[in-house]
Amino acid sequence: MQEFTLISRYFAPLAQGFAGADGLRDDAALLTPPQGMALVATTDSMQEGVHFIGNEAPALLAQKLLRVNLSDLAAKGATPWCYLLNLSLPPACDEAWIADFSHGLAQDQARYGIVLAGGDTTNTKAGISLSLTAFGLVKAGHRLVRRCGAQVGDLLYVTGTIGDGYLGLKAAQGELAGVSEQDWLYLLGCYQLPEPKPELAIALVGLARASMDISDGLVQDVGQLCTASGVGAEVRAEDVPLSDAARRWQQVHPEKRMELLTGGDDYELLLAIAPENVKDVEALAASWCQPLTCIGVVVAERKLEIRDADGMPLQITQGGWQHHFGY
Ligand code: ADP
Ligand code: MG
Repeated sequence: MQEFTLISRYFAPLAQGFAGADGLRDDAALLTPPQGMALVATTDSMQEGVHFIGNEAPALLAQKLLRVNLSDLAAKGATPWCYLLNLSLPPACDEAWIADFSHGLAQDQARYGIVLAGGDTTNTKAGISLSLTAFGLVKAGHRLVRRCGAQVGDLLYVTGTIGDGYLGLKAAQGELAGVSEQDWLYLLGCYQLPEPKPELAIALVGLARASMDISDGLVQDVGQLCTASGVGAEVRAEDVPLSDAARRWQQVHPEKRMELLTGGDDYELLLAIAPENVKDVEALAASWCQPLTCIGVVVAERKLEIRDADGMPLQITQGGWQHHFGY
């Protein structure tokens, strides 16, 4: 299929209603944020063989690509606005593949209130390469909630549950043993389709001193937040919230519990909350019926300690997910 046919048939409909995209007929899009608003930009890529296997449903890949970016916007308290999409596709990605991919995008555009503004499409002889740049809106002049704002005495909170994405990845790789079929499907779903909750995130982040999304493993990401803020943290492993499925897995593999805290793909929020805001933050989460759990505290000493139920420090075997470069 011709590139132009592909764009007009499958991508132009996704840009409908966004005047600055001009129906994807021009060289570039014009981004004019609404009056009084500033742009927050983030970008994330997914490569076949690194971030996904390649046999996933295209719609699921599209939704995950969009959602990992929405998770970053949410962590900065930004409202989703528009996005740019870069695709490098091998010949095996035929029209049916693109139709399904764009269908996934359409579904999540409606769900999250975001619209396509432009992109680029190329052929490749290598694996599928997907990249998305998302723009969100915050009030102009408003101080962005960064990773670096945590202060000694702040309480560390996480949204949702931790470790499901990691177990779901193991399921996708055929390496998840000792769980029921129902749990297996639930965990795989968590990996394939994380669920950022922008509206709740925006409200929570507004009450936080520091925030970030948890994507590379809780332990590593707490470490990142602490490093950025020039502080340390004590985390209580027992208090890290687990889903019922992850809890059942942990009962079968008690020696592997640390893996849930170091594995990636959670796409939940990590927040540092000043003690005076704890009540409001907890009331907010309760009014949304969303889990929000205090897992530890920010300390002055620049260390990261994960403690068991008896207060004994646990050995951190693996920091979390990092790409390794050949230089
Ligand atoms: P250029 O030659 O300037 O790179 P293209 O022919 O690649 O322009 O793109 C034409 C239009 O189609 C542009 O508006 C571009 O943003 C849009 N476009 C191309 N690929 C995509 C894509 N994957 N998703 C969204 N828009 C796309
Ligand atoms: Mg182009």
